[in-house]
Amino acid sequence: MKLDVKNIRYLTSDDWRVLTAVEMGSRNHEIVPTPLIAQIASIRSGTGVHRCISALAKIGLIAKVKNAKYDGYRLTYGGLDYLALHTHTKAKTVYSAGNQIGVGKESDIYVCASETGKQLVLKIHRLGRISFRTVKANRDYLRNRSSGSWMYMSRLAALKEFEFMKALRRAGFPVPEPVAHNRHTIIMGLVDAFPMRQISSVGDPAGLYAELISLIVRLAQHGLIHGDFNEFNVLIEEAPSTSSASEEPLQPLALVPTIIDFPQMVSIDHPNAEYYFDRDVACIKRFFSRRFGFTSDEPGPFFTDSTKVIKKRLDVDVEASGFSRKMARELDLYMKEVGVDGDGDGNVGGEEREDDDNDEEEVEDGDETEDMARSVGDEGKAQAPDLETAIKEDVAAATSTQPLASSITILDILDNDPLPSLSEVKPPPKPTISTKAAKAKAGWAI
Ligand code: ADP
Ligand code: MG
Repeated sequence: MKLDVKNIRYLTSDDWRVLTAVEMGSRNHEIVPTPLIAQIASIRSGTGVHRCISALAKIGLIAKVKNAKYDGYRLTYGGLDYLALHTHTKAKTVYSAGNQIGVGKESDIYVCASETGKQLVLKIHRLGRISFRTVKANRDYLRNRSSGSWMYMSRLAALKEFEFMKALRRAGFPVPEPVAHNRHTIIMGLVDAFPMRQISSVGDPAGLYAELISLIVRLAQHGLIHGDFNEFNVLIEEAPSTSSASEEPLQPLALVPTIIDFPQMVSIDHPNAEYYFDRDVACIKRFFSRRFGFTSDEPGPFFTDSTKVIKKRLDVDVEASGFSRKMARELDLYMKEVGVDGDGDGNVGGEEREDDDNDEEEVEDGDETEDMARSVGDEGKAQAPDLETAIKEDVAAATSTQPLASSITILDILDNDPLPSLSEVKPPPKPTISTKAAKAKAGWAI
């Protein structure tokens, strides 16, 4: 689903209260009963709540779900996006949002900017967007398990990615700068580079290959396996070569890799660690041989050799930092159950997409099929050339020298109060003056 930020400026503080109330209600109810929304939002006038509810439903931030037992609303991905952006904006992390530069099976990526014009990336995790027709029963089961909901899992994926990005950055790995995390989103520095997949040739494939393989080994020496180390998740920046570039103008540009995309990262203690390690190595080998015609004459590297010398246990650090082992297990299980297996896997044919579009009314368990085109892998797998072209164009637009301002939307927010913590909110005090008296005082003719 697309992020459409144009309405964010027009929501009133009551609208934000009601939206937050729906989010809070969703912790225990998949469909939040309308009276509960009113109760949590504790806006005095009943009509006020209903006005907010219909305004939010109209722009697709909540959706009405008809159910035999009761009528209520659920938060949509759009609603969750708005809540997260609202928080980022209030924290002054994000000031404006711009082009989409990537779409994955489990995320949407946008450029955005801070108040000072620093270019950033907003990654919105969208787990549960895709499931498989063949496992519809599975999906219902996942949906109805409160801790297995798309919202919770997307939050877990974002938290995991943010914690790993911080740990990797601290340890000196080439990863984007982690800036902020809220709900199912993260904000990171924009890397001015293209995914390796878009690079058709390089001057020194052996050098780049060696650098990428040594990153895989270094990760293992820090207790980690990326788990999805492929040409989509390695960004390549062209940087002027450091050695005496001015004297030798024909010297090739140095290629600087940045690694991204960490929700599937695993510890070297994972039962399938060796399998994931070998798969990461094989991905790079295959890509270099097919794209650049380069095949290393050395076997390996191998998992057991790479983990002989452990330099640091970032997996242990992350576990201690807030992304617990229990959370890791939950996310792992969910990803397995819905077939999430990184960018390069072949699970495209039977994809379905959870439809969170702007329908005001939605019937539970209706047919939610909307094929989500997604190109994967180089060879022989389902391809979506038009989507691919669109992404490339977006990437080109985002990384061109054109000013970003042509496409940005300022996320200015009308109300100046921080979002209320609704658990502490008491109903507003009774007015000390009646409406009639107030009007009379203001000189209204009654
Ligand atoms: P997914 O989980 O959907 O694969 P990724 O994190 O891999 O998401 O991002 C998808 C695409 O978005 C990448 O291939 C890259 O083109 C772009 N992208 C992601 N993060 C950044 C960043 N920090 N800077 C520049 N481009 C990025
Ligand atoms: Mg990716």
